[in-house]
Amino acid sequence: MRLNTLPRVRLANLPTPMQEMPNLSKELGGPKLLVKRDDLTGLAFGGNKARKLEFLMADAVEKKADYIVTGAGFHSNWCTQTVAAARRLGMEVVLVKSGPKDGYDPKEYDGNQLLHFLMGAEIHVARPENSKKLTEEIMEDLRAKGHNPYYMPVGGSTPIGAAGYATAMLEIVSQAVEKGVKIDYLVHATGSGGTQAGLVAGTKAFNSGIKVLGVSTGGPTGGRRTERIMNLVKETADFLEFDIVCDEDDVNIFDEYAEGYGYMIEGKAEAIKLAAEKEGLMIDPVYTASAMMGLIDLCRNGFFKPDDTVVFLHTGGTAALFPYKEPLKAYGLGKDMPWKIPEWSPSSVGQ
Ligand SMILES: *Cc1c(COP(=O)(O)O)cnc(C)c1O
Repeated sequence: MRLNTLPRVRLANLPTPMQEMPNLSKELGGPKLLVKRDDLTGLAFGGNKARKLEFLMADAVEKKADYIVTGAGFHSNWCTQTVAAARRLGMEVVLVKSGPKDGYDPKEYDGNQLLHFLMGAEIHVARPENSKKLTEEIMEDLRAKGHNPYYMPVGGSTPIGAAGYATAMLEIVSQAVEKGVKIDYLVHATGSGGTQAGLVAGTKAFNSGIKVLGVSTGGPTGGRRTERIMNLVKETADFLEFDIVCDEDDVNIFDEYAEGYGYMIEGKAEAIKLAAEKEGLMIDPVYTASAMMGLIDLCRNGFFKPDDTVVFLHTGGTAALFPYKEPLKAYGLGKDMPWKIPEWSPSSVGQ
C-alpha cells in the first residue's frame, strides 16, 4: 500500500469528529446514527474536497505549477476549496464555471460565488457545452505566457483525489475502534464519484465490514454512474497498490433522492429542517440534503435493522444554504416553494 508515502500537503483539520445523533435516531425510530463531520475540515468553510486536495495539490506542487485551472457548477464547493487551497500555497486560480448563459454574472453575489470572488479567483462562466473549449483556450494562453498551469477535473475525482477518501476510511475505522462501535453502513452524497470510489477502495482494502451507500445528487443516470465509479475504484486501488477486487455489488447508488443537480425539492427541504431542528446540524441543499433525504427514507422504510449503526458522512457545502434562502423560508412557513430550479443552473433556461 502506498497511502503512507504519497506526496501530501496538509490542508485539512484531521481527524474530523464523529458524533452521535441521538435525537434524529429517535425521530426516525432507530438505527443508531452517527455523523462524520467532514464539513469541519476547515478549508474555506470545510468539506470533502479538502481531503482530495491534500493529494492533488501535492502533485501540483511537485510539478511546479503556478496556476490551477478547474471548473464545476456556478456555486461549486469544489471550486471554493480549490481556490482556498491554491491561495494557501501561493498559486493563482482560473475557474470555468457552468451557468445559464456565457458570461452570466448576477447582480448580487452570494454563497460560493461570493467566496470565489473574495479569494480573487479569475472567474469565467460559460454554458456547459462551451466550457471544455474555453478551458483549453485558457490553458494554452497561460502556457504561451510562460506559466505552468495544472488542470484539475471537476470534483478532483481522479485516483490521486480519491486517495483522500481511502485515508478517510482508515480514519473512520480507527474512530470506530476507539469508540468500540461496529459500523454497518456509511451514507453519503455522491457526485463526481471520487469520494465514493475512495471509500469503497478503503472499506475493501481494510476489510472494515462497512457498506458504503452513495446517494446521487444529480438524478438518475442509469448504470453509467455505477460503471464510472467502479472503474475509478479499480484505478484508485491500482494506484494505491490495494489488493482488492471490486464488482457492481460494491458500488451502491440510490438515485431517487434528487430530480436534478441543485434542484430544491420538498424532500431535501424536509431533510435540512429535520437535521437543523433535531441536531442543530446544518446541511446543504445541493449534496448533503439529498444524502439526508435518502437516509431518512431508508430509515422510515425499514432498510436498516434497529440495532444497525449508520454513519452519515457530512461532506460540507453549507455555504450554499444561503442562495436557497427563498425556498427554504417558504418551506419552513408551510408555503409552496417559489422555485425548484435555481436561476444559476444551466437547466433554468427555457423553464
Ligand atoms: C463534491 C461534493 C460531494 C460529492 O463528492 P464527489 O467526490 O464529487 O462524489 C458531496 N458533498 C459535497 C458537499 C460536495 O461538495
